[in-house]
Amino acid sequence: MRIGFIGLGIMGRPMAKNLLRAGYSLVVYDKTAPVSDVLSLGAEGAASNREVASRCDIIITMLPNSPDVYEAVLGVDGIAFGARDGSILVDMSSIAPAVSRAISGELQTRGVAMLDAPVSGGQPKAVDGTLAIMVGGDPAVFESVRPILEKMGSSVTLIGPVGSGNTAKLANQIIVALNIAAISEAFVLSTRAGLDPEVVFTAIKDGLAGSTVMNVKVPSILDGNFEPGFRIQLHIKDLVNAVDTAHDLGVPVPLTDHVLETLRELEREGLGAADHSAIIRYYEELAHTEVRRRHP
Ligand code: NAD
Repeated sequence: MRIGFIGLGIMGRPMAKNLLRAGYSLVVYDKTAPVSDVLSLGAEGAASNREVASRCDIIITMLPNSPDVYEAVLGVDGIAFGARDGSILVDMSSIAPAVSRAISGELQTRGVAMLDAPVSGGQPKAVDGTLAIMVGGDPAVFESVRPILEKMGSSVTLIGPVGSGNTAKLANQIIVALNIAAISEAFVLSTRAGLDPEVVFTAIKDGLAGSTVMNVKVPSILDGNFEPGFRIQLHIKDLVNAVDTAHDLGVPVPLTDHVLETLRELEREGLGAADHSAIIRYYEELAHTEVRRRHP
């Protein structure tokens, strides 16, 4: 079985490599990023999204946002025009649930099934093949691709119909953003009070306040390392999708609105390409206090 993999960025590249290591045959394409390292591991290249779809039964996409997925599927030389009756599209990008449903509807008329299967865990877990994968779509289609997803993730969960994966991912992104904001306020406060932030981290990380976010983000904050990781621009995209979805549902999300404004301010300051842990830079500037390691 040949799998198409489209979008070889921070996440897609290591995910594609894990499929190659698991023995799958891959046809890959990226609009701009070089793919030579993936080809050297045995993948075949293609010249367009359409060509990938015409050479594979299962096509995986890992692209930034809704318009990118829409273009890759339904734009010029898109997947929809190369796919066959019975092909399956697994879109692993984090996009608006309403757009997943709309694209799936278009594909259905061509006999192509679609799952939305966004991921959580970031680049380290993409490399390890231990992502959390949240899936929306038909249960039989899900079962047919589950073994492939299990090569990229350690947790693979079918949540409901198409769009459900991305709705769960929005919930995930709200929790991650608010968690980083809470960590930021708390560590700026305790550092300004004269405490060593590294010692505070050691003291609290295994208690109730501890979290995966804290364990991953605080060490890099202490090092002053804001290399992405997960770019602020992408988190803005997720929270805009979350706020739009919440408005459609009539659900108030005041905390999400607040962190979204913080992220936008950081983007205006030129930090759009920094890791989302740079949320702490906003709080550091307000308090004129940097949370860094005292004994590097
Ligand atoms: P990225 O920008 O590094 O990679 C996206 C790739 O898609 C780029 O190489 C780009 O050239 C390619 N691309 C864009 N449009 C295309 C098109 N029409 N046809 C072919 N290729 C196209 O992004 P990323 O960090 O890998 O994130 C991908 C998705 O995964 C996003 O939705 C993001 O929110 C989500 N995500 C990212 C992380 C993370 O930590 N980076 C974690 C979880 C989920």
